[in-house]
Parts: sequence; C-alpha cells; structure tokens
Amino acid sequence: MPTLPDVIAALDTLWPRDRAEAWDAVGPVCGDVANPEARVGRVLFAVDPVQEIADEAVALGADLLVTHHPLYLRGTTTVAADTFKGRVVHTLIKNDVALLVAHTNADRADPGVSDALAGALGLRVLRPLVPDAADPTDPDGRRGLGRICALDEPLTLAEFAERAAARLPATAQGVRVAGDPDARISTVAVCGGSGDSLFADVRAAGVDAYLTADLRHHPASEAREHSPLALVDAAHYATEWPWCEQAAAQLDAVAERNGWDLRTHVSRTVTDPWTAHAPAAAAPSTSLSDTDMTPGAPN
Ligand SMILES: [Zn+2]
Repeated sequence: MPTLPDVIAALDTLWPRDRAEAWDAVGPVCGDVANPEARVGRVLFAVDPVQEIADEAVALGADLLVTHHPLYLRGTTTVAADTFKGRVVHTLIKNDVALLVAHTNADRADPGVSDALAGALGLRVLRPLVPDAADPTDPDGRRGLGRICALDEPLTLAEFAERAAARLPATAQGVRVAGDPDARISTVAVCGGSGDSLFADVRAAGVDAYLTADLRHHPASEAREHSPLALVDAAHYATEWPWCEQAAAQLDAVAERNGWDLRTHVSRTVTDPWTAHAPAAAAPSTSLSDTDMTPGAPN
C-alpha cells in the first residue's frame, strides 16, 4: 500500500499546484499528508467536497478524497463542526480521510477537465481554447483553459444537444440551448464549469457551438447578438464530473506503474445544487425536435 505522501506527490505531478490560478486554493485541505506511516488503500474522486461526499468517503473506507472544487476558497477563522464546512473537516479528520483539491490546476492540465468533457461528448480535441504561455514542458501546446474540438461527423444543433443530455450525468437542469436547432455543428468549444468569461476567445476560434455551464443572461444574449454561435449550457456539475473518471484512471495508471495496492472510486452522487426543473407552462419552444429533451439515464 502506498504512503499518503507518495500518493499526494503523484497527484501533484499530474496537476502541479503552481499552475492553479492565483485566487484558487488547491492542494491538501486536511490529512496527515507528511506522515510516511500514513497509508492509502482507497481513493474517492468527486466534484464537490460537501457533507454527502464526506460521508460517502467514510462509508467507502477511503483514506483520501480528491475533489475538483475547493472546500475553502477564502480564509476562515473556524472549523467548528457547527459550520457546514467545519463539519466536513471534522467528518474527514475523525475518520482519517485526507482531502486534496485539484481545481484550476486540473483545468489547465494535459489531460485536463475539458479534455474529459470533450471525451464524454465524443469530440476530438484540437487545441486549448486559451492556451497557456509557451512552456518547454508542453511542446505541443496542449495545456490551457477549455478545448477547441471537432465532431467526426457533423450534427445538427438539436442532435448535438441531445447527445450532451444523453452522455453527461443526468441533472435537474438538463441541457439548455440557444440557436437554430437545424444549424450544422462540426466544431465546438467546450469549457468545464463556468465558461462565460471566455466568449471573446470562443468567437475568435470561429467554432459553430460553445458548450459550457452557468451561462448568464447578458453574456449569453450578447454572444448571440454578435454571431450565430450556438450555445449549449449544461449543469456545472455535469460538465466537470467526467474529470473524476479521467483522474481516477490516471491514478490507476500510476498505481500500476508503481505496483501499488490502491483502489480508486468515482462518486456517482449528483451534487449539482439544483434539484428540480419545472418547464414553463407555455414556453415558446420547450423541445428542440420531436424527441423529448429530458436528460439521459444517470451514469
Ligand atoms: Zn467547477
């Protein structure tokens, strides 16, 4: 069984902490991470470090929980268990579960969060949407935010949206679309998580569609006025969950190379905060086509 410091070091190699945004909070949050006696037999990957996920890690007997979202993004003066974040910390420490966050360092990585999203959607990645600065350790320029992708066979916007709804984890939100349902889509920009700050880059890329999460009224409306770019807005959780499977597979490969006795698990608990969706009673268009747009089966 590997030590906790060895596993943390391996994950730091996959997603170096110094590549995170300056405002971010990545790396270990709790755990005896410098103790060479601490062993890791099971690792759970999840999007959100919420109580339900902490409880799942404990029930699983995990020694390490790896989440995409930080538990604490800003400073705090308490981890008392009467705060919801403090309760997560207590749950983890009392049960000897370490927590590691890989957030914007995982977004920019090769492969990163948006590579996993593109893979889930069956897209071929061409290059980053916003490439990192040139770096000799990334000779092909594969690191950066978002990805520009191609479809092997063009789809209509309606078909592409249906594919996204079927292949991403089912959420209450489902998938929202802006654009002509019959528009031909052959190139797509994707960005896991909130992507409405990247519209200028998406327009510059000249793609047919942009799939991301958390698109707000004004940026989306302005993007639609600027160009015929189609928008596909999925739940934030759904766009980042595929990274958990990719990350677990990456750690499995490291474990195999090192001969580690280590098991990885991916949480299937939906932690998107939205829990229900009521379609408007007389919406102008509630369906892109004759096919119902309800999300696919949970996966
Ligand atoms: Zn996110």
